Amino acid sequence: MPHVTERLYFEPGHALTFRARVVEAATHDGRPAVLLDRTSFYPTGGGQPNDTGRLDDARVIDVVEEVEGRILHVLDRASPADGREVDCEVDAVRRCDHMQQHTGQHILSAAFERLFDAETKGFRMGAGTSEIDVELEDPTGERICEAESLANSIVFSDLALRVHTVDREGATRLPLRKQSDRDGELRVIEIDGFDWSPCGGTHAQRTGEVGLIAIASVERAKRMARVSFACGGRALAEYRRANRTAVETARLFSTGRDDAPPLVGRLMEENKSLKRRVRELAEIASEVEGRRCFEAGEQRDGFRLVVCEFSDRPADEIRLLAHKIVASGPSVALLASNDGGVARFAFARSASDSVAGVDCGALLRAACDAVGGRGGGKPELAQGGGPDAGGIPAALDAARSMVK
Ligand SMILES: [Zn+2]
Repeated sequence: MPHVTERLYFEPGHALTFRARVVEAATHDGRPAVLLDRTSFYPTGGGQPNDTGRLDDARVIDVVEEVEGRILHVLDRASPADGREVDCEVDAVRRCDHMQQHTGQHILSAAFERLFDAETKGFRMGAGTSEIDVELEDPTGERICEAESLANSIVFSDLALRVHTVDREGATRLPLRKQSDRDGELRVIEIDGFDWSPCGGTHAQRTGEVGLIAIASVERAKRMARVSFACGGRALAEYRRANRTAVETARLFSTGRDDAPPLVGRLMEENKSLKRRVRELAEIASEVEGRRCFEAGEQRDGFRLVVCEFSDRPADEIRLLAHKIVASGPSVALLASNDGGVARFAFARSASDSVAGVDCGALLRAACDAVGGRGGGKPELAQGGGPDAGGIPAALDAARSMVK
């Protein structure tokens, strides 16, 4: 009969330092590992990560339950030999953190169930926050607050947790929050008159040890609410982070933390109307500029030829200006911009008979050759550019020579 490890961590208030005997020196994924006769190390399972710690001089870097009852302690160095007595110590800080998140999850899940009959379908303990998937179709802010408040009132009441070991028959007499499909003995965790759940994890002895239970965010996912939360030390860390972010953001706006959201809202509105106003003014400015460019253009036979090179104007700006120029009278506009080293062109002609023979698309293709780029368009309007803004003068000369 294979060896079944005695789980010391099942006992409330069990010691985190203990002596045990090596039953078997083994390997796990190529690393040395040992099977002990008894252990306080919790193996990964039930959404809770494994404990770590020390086994004599070796670090326990992972704990896995390979098959039921066979708990392997994976070590960072060669295993002690079979039969040896070893001194073990579970990392208390990591354990306390896991205990807070896990016990907090029992309390929070029970709160959702009690208030809204919403069952918890999944639990994951992350590195920062943990998550539960709750069958709550309508997770309004009010409901979330209500569950969070009930959970914290259970913490503040510092209720005792009890472990009941029952058989299937005994389990039917307990008001279990969820049924277990395990055969044989069942371990039921009771939070004093509030909740009964079958569970093999590590728990606090009293709810006060869990500390604050804080819900960080809620997302809807397939008729479920995915609730992220943090308990105890993590809730404090989460509060500090959230507060720091809020205070630093408020400082950027030279205001206090609580005044920042309405102020930022007002500034965003203001920004929107300023942008609108800038667009209107740009339209007016380009109209004026377009007329001036037209008037300064070279007089040809029945039309004006306007050739201009600009610095740092985006493509849509020179395109708008080209429109305004050709709207001012019979004309051809050949505009270029050195936009941060990139060449941009906007060529246009008016709808007048005097320029009906000008093909802006053909002019643009010739211009693009000189700046290492490509482009094309219609006879009345063409846009394009290339990576070599140094070629703009040659490009404009090439296009100009084609306008008869
Ligand atoms: Zn549990």
